[in-house]
Amino acid sequence: MERKYDVIVIGAGNAGLAFACTATKNGLKTLLIERNVLPGGCATSFVRGRFEYESSLHELANVGTKENPGSVRQLFESYGADVNWVNEENAFRVIADGEDGYDATMPAGVEAFADKMEEIVEDSRDSVIALFDLAKKVEKAIAYMSQGKPDPEVLMKEHADFMCMASYSVDECLNALGMPKKAQNIVKTYWPYLGAATDKIDLAHYLIMMSRYVDGSPAMPLMKSHELSLALDKVIRENGGEIWYNTEVKEIITENGKAVGVKLENGEVYADFVVANCFPETAYSKMLPKEAVADKAVKLANARKKGELFFTVYLGLNRSAEELGIKDYSVFLFNSPDSLEQYNSMDNFDESFVIVNCLNTVIPTASPKGTCTLFLTTMLSERAWEGVNEENYKSIKNKIAKRMIELYEKKLSVSVKPYIEEIVISTPSTFARYLNTPHGTPYGYEVQPWDTMIARIMNLRNEQFNENLYFIGAHGDRADGYSSAYSNGNSTAGRILKEVKKNG
Ligand SMILES: Cc1cc2nc3c(=O)[nH]c(=O)nc-3n(C[C@H](O)[C@H](O)[C@H](O)COP(=O)(O)OP(=O)(O)OC[C@H]3O[C@@H](n4cnc5c(N)ncnc54)[C@H](O)[C@@H]3O)c2cc1C
Repeated sequence: MERKYDVIVIGAGNAGLAFACTATKNGLKTLLIERNVLPGGCATSFVRGRFEYESSLHELANVGTKENPGSVRQLFESYGADVNWVNEENAFRVIADGEDGYDATMPAGVEAFADKMEEIVEDSRDSVIALFDLAKKVEKAIAYMSQGKPDPEVLMKEHADFMCMASYSVDECLNALGMPKKAQNIVKTYWPYLGAATDKIDLAHYLIMMSRYVDGSPAMPLMKSHELSLALDKVIRENGGEIWYNTEVKEIITENGKAVGVKLENGEVYADFVVANCFPETAYSKMLPKEAVADKAVKLANARKKGELFFTVYLGLNRSAEELGIKDYSVFLFNSPDSLEQYNSMDNFDESFVIVNCLNTVIPTASPKGTCTLFLTTMLSERAWEGVNEENYKSIKNKIAKRMIELYEKKLSVSVKPYIEEIVISTPSTFARYLNTPHGTPYGYEVQPWDTMIARIMNLRNEQFNENLYFIGAHGDRADGYSSAYSNGNSTAGRILKEVKKNG
């Protein structure tokens, strides 16, 4: 057995790419293996007719500006990865149906966001500002905890506010801050980006995500998310790393439970460490030899709830955004102002919320002149798919897409259907085929009261069941999303580098 690499990475999703950048930058001999012919996993684009579609990115949190860079921009800069970032002015527009419904366009930036909220909901400003202050404290405390082995005394002394509220759900936190109900509802608009109900999401998780969108100057790459993935691919190669596309890892090879390499269609490759950008349960059920899989590992993977399933409609329209009267980049369309009802809407094809993005409003060159693209997303629970079979799949798929388009037309008073030149519909099966995740979820495991971001960070070591085998990705400690996956890939490389240093 010839060991050729320090580390083999299975999968070039966002986490795999960030891992490989950090590893190669620090001198680890790295091989990155990807099933698809392109890097990025979710972070890619595809072409139909004369349109190139962004495949997943609505917005990337915490990019910041050149003058005031956020953690994602800093990470890319530290790698020397060139990206043309385009910042967004507004955080979002949200339209919620129902008796206490609203139509609110919220700007990015804490002060502007709080001012706008005060305009919409009297006496809400102080509690909104208090929320963002708390978010800063939470971010500091989590950064401290992520360094490993946090000292309870330091936590109590230096992170007292965080310790008082750490166990709160989002709902409990907003109530404790005395925020008026309508302002709470608007503040909770981002919950689909975590795919969990606000009475269950831990405050740390939500606040970090929300403040990274509102305060962290969200952005998109000029050339769609493929630009990000290509920039990271280039860094890895320049640092001496190898990338094998169109190559699937079939098995993880172990010796006495310890990961030592991977099996491919035609051969084996060995390394000191194996890092998997795929779900733990996929590895336990399909890639590791039975005797190397700990019962505890399987129980934990089964106990976790898989993230929600995506359904996306990509439209290429033969009119410009201006001609069609489309002004907003990002609009959330909810069936109710109540976030629990919004969450439960995912059980029903006819009611699920829809998020619509028109990239041309931020990047006019995102499609050919005189055209624009629309990107409509809904999320549906596994329950919603019960009863769908080979016979009715196509008609249900078309029915969901039609409802989403018509909802947008009705709520925004924009005519879309007569101008559709291209239409692509991605169902959970499409995502499953491309990403190799269970049921196609791009969201890892849904956070639960027992499975919060803090619990995951504290249990990182306990959850490593095979020596020298690490998991990274949307199912990791930071959960779903681009910035979480980059951060998780980067920090896991840091853990392995420490290990290498310790062992000389
Ligand atoms: C429609 C949509 C919209 C989204 N919008 C946003 C958004 O606006 N903002 C945001 O932050 N996040 C968004 N997300 C979520 C975000 O894209 C994901 O959470 C994140 O990119 C997941 O990254 P990951 O590292 O887990 O890798 P994944 O994207 O899951 O990629 C894993 C990679 O591993 C490869 N792989 C798996 N098994 C093997 C194997 N055996 N051998 C070789 N390769 C393998 C796969 O082919 C894949 O390329 C969206 C997702 C979707 C689908």
